[in-house]
Amino acid sequence: MTTLSSKELIALEEKFGAHNYHPLPVVLAKGKGVHVWDVEGKQYLDFLSAYSAVNQGHCHPRIIKTMQEQAEVLTLTSRAFHNNLLGVYAEYITSLLGYDKVLPMNAGVEACETAFKLARRWGYDVKGIEENKAVIIVCDGNFWGRSIAAVSSSTDVSSYGGFGPFVPGIVKIPYNDISALEANLQDKNVAAFMVEPIQGEAGVVVPDEDYIKQVRALCSKHNVLFIADEVQTGIARTGKMMACDYAEVKPDILILGKALSGGTMPVSAVLCRDEIMLCIKPGEHGSTFGGNPLACAVAIESLKVIVEEKLADNAAKMGELFRAGLNQIQHPIIEKVRGKGLLNALVIKDGKETEHLWNTDGEIAWNLCLKMRDNGLLAKPTHGNIIRFAPPLVINENQIKAAVEIIKTSIEQITKK
Ligand code: PLP
Repeated sequence: MTTLSSKELIALEEKFGAHNYHPLPVVLAKGKGVHVWDVEGKQYLDFLSAYSAVNQGHCHPRIIKTMQEQAEVLTLTSRAFHNNLLGVYAEYITSLLGYDKVLPMNAGVEACETAFKLARRWGYDVKGIEENKAVIIVCDGNFWGRSIAAVSSSTDVSSYGGFGPFVPGIVKIPYNDISALEANLQDKNVAAFMVEPIQGEAGVVVPDEDYIKQVRALCSKHNVLFIADEVQTGIARTGKMMACDYAEVKPDILILGKALSGGTMPVSAVLCRDEIMLCIKPGEHGSTFGGNPLACAVAIESLKVIVEEKLADNAAKMGELFRAGLNQIQHPIIEKVRGKGLLNALVIKDGKETEHLWNTDGEIAWNLCLKMRDNGLLAKPTHGNIIRFAPPLVINENQIKAAVEIIKTSIEQITKK
């Protein structure tokens, strides 16, 4: 354990770590349920949940117990050999979510990359697309990680700028635009359309009610795979097990990550039917850590916690309460509140029209996050003027009310002259 202060620890990171992040200045040392504590012992409500990886709450006792027990026995075999948990996990997750097979990976970006590879291979082997001509359609504002294919898919210059040349065969269309999708599906070389049912990193952008249903219908009509990137929206975050469940549709390929391990280690998964999954043959894809016994044990327990603690229902109920609370704040700097379940965002009027109301310099959303931190709640701005609020799904009514109070007070404090 270190005895260094927050200030000293930040200085160490700054000096010896790469400068690829700009974190809120707070140094966390402990987490339990919806709370985290900094190295000085101050307690906060965590309203980010590590970008929705900690849906089950920090250090969930059942997940930690399983992790500790499995870590004592066997952690990694590689896929050169079988292990005694991969089959058990594969049966559990495929039955729970209704797919034939699962391909286990680690980070979310690897699972998305896997989905791209599966789609291209299916495009060639099953759909009959001419070699090297496969196209995958993605949406403006998408975010699926930082690999070269992921930044090639991005429309955010801070993601892709300076990292070219980019991967070909990716077409970008506006999000929530069914006509644009239909127009682009006329190309017979399209293998897949990959989409987030709610765009998380873009600022919790919720599409029209029937968008995902129409996506499903159009993809089926044009023999194109519908890939749902539920890395952030999945595993109960939006108030259903999957955000696509709201539309009562099943994607051809489902991508999961983050909360699949309750925030304990990188565990991701790609699920689909045999016709797609079996296009990839031994030796054509994989990962040293994917499907390791520690991850399998942790993922089973993490999913069981979601199901048995009915966290999707709680996310739906607490989400309603939270949005109702935010909507009551009614402050002129608030443009809108949006979201589903416990994936929500506060959009702030960040321009000249509200500048006379601020009593701080710099970006108002960042300053609001600093003020909320001082008042005991942690959240992070995205795109300058949007603050995402995504607490662990184990949050209760009193904690939601306390959070709304902190947000309200903090807004008043940064706007009072
Ligand atoms: N897909 C979505 C929708 C995400 O939000 C993210 C990360 O935020 C990813 C993929 C990438 O996951 P990871 O950061 O674990 O690689």
